[in-house]
Amino acid sequence: MADKRDYYEVLGVQKGASDDEIKKAFRALAKKYHPDMNPGDAEAEKKFKEVNEAYEVLSDPDKRAKYDQYGHAAFDQSAGGGYSYSGNGFDFDLSDLFGGIFGSSFGSRSQGRRQTAGNNVYQRVYLTFEEAAFGCKKEISYPRVEACATCGGSGAAPGTSPVTCRKCGGRGVVTTTTRTMLGMMQQQTTCPDCGGRGKTVATPCTDCKGKGFVRINKKLEVNIPAGIDNGQQLSVRGQGDVSTNGGPTGDLIIEVAVKPHSVFTREDYDIYCEIPITFAEAALGAEIDVPSLEGNIKYTIPEGTQTGTQFRLSGKGIKYVNSQRKGDLIFTVTVETPKGLNEKQKQLLRDFSVSCGKTNFKNKQKFFDKIFKDKK
Ligand SMILES: [Zn+2]
Ligand SMILES: [Zn+2]
Repeated sequence: MADKRDYYEVLGVQKGASDDEIKKAFRALAKKYHPDMNPGDAEAEKKFKEVNEAYEVLSDPDKRAKYDQYGHAAFDQSAGGGYSYSGNGFDFDLSDLFGGIFGSSFGSRSQGRRQTAGNNVYQRVYLTFEEAAFGCKKEISYPRVEACATCGGSGAAPGTSPVTCRKCGGRGVVTTTTRTMLGMMQQQTTCPDCGGRGKTVATPCTDCKGKGFVRINKKLEVNIPAGIDNGQQLSVRGQGDVSTNGGPTGDLIIEVAVKPHSVFTREDYDIYCEIPITFAEAALGAEIDVPSLEGNIKYTIPEGTQTGTQFRLSGKGIKYVNSQRKGDLIFTVTVETPKGLNEKQKQLLRDFSVSCGKTNFKNKQKFFDKIFKDKK
């Protein structure tokens, strides 16, 4: 590696050259030395590779900065695919919630290589009603393609290094040039020898058979935010499959399934339940216990409450995912008709019934009044 020429020198540009100048210089030289234009010319092929290698580094702001600082030493390990590991992948990006479009924001990092992002991995997680309402930590177990730990993702056996692909000169793509009536037409396809990685391996790593990646069962603890609902998705950046050709890592997409609650149902951030009350409580009014997610709440229902009446407790529902706001608790009372009365109770009710006048059962009176009117 000691005899390597300076990358700027290879492209014939100044050290402070702009991206455009670099691109222009690369295009001219790549055309000049392209193997298809110089069949059988070993010197041209060598130059072509050199030009590609220089361009791969200088066209990438990250790599260029490293090269400017450390020179060729920056890439000496040449450990391969350039897998990107994102360290902050454990936090949710809330803007991704409910968005449904994941991974589309990835751009190709180097213009020469044809890199593809790793696949997103989908995994369902089951939550109780309360876990969804309050949030929780969950250990997710899912299959994932990861960089091979033995070779660090390079695919080369320990102690060896991948080498720049001979076929494509490290670009990962091959360009075919055809002469047409409109001039020279160029077409780029993924390099068949290296599969787009730009490197080939002479002695493959035995653990991954030279692929550089392995499929493992990954365990990851994730924070489920309070307020998440059945059917919604969460995206964990960079925890999906690694790319097999140096592109960005895919995401883990968690699909949330919430188990039904024995008492509550949920609609967005509001929760609903039905509470049975006695005939006497309905008629006289009463203080009743209303169940909520945070324990019972005392509530006074008024005298003369009808069955099916709904009451709303503001802010006693579920917390919104991205704010401190809370939904409501809405409960419906159902009046239970007493069963299995003894003779004394029955007599009390008969007396009670006799004592009732027309105004005590207005709806019933109205109903029959209507029927009589229709008959007239
Ligand atoms: Zn390996
Ligand atoms: Zn290749």
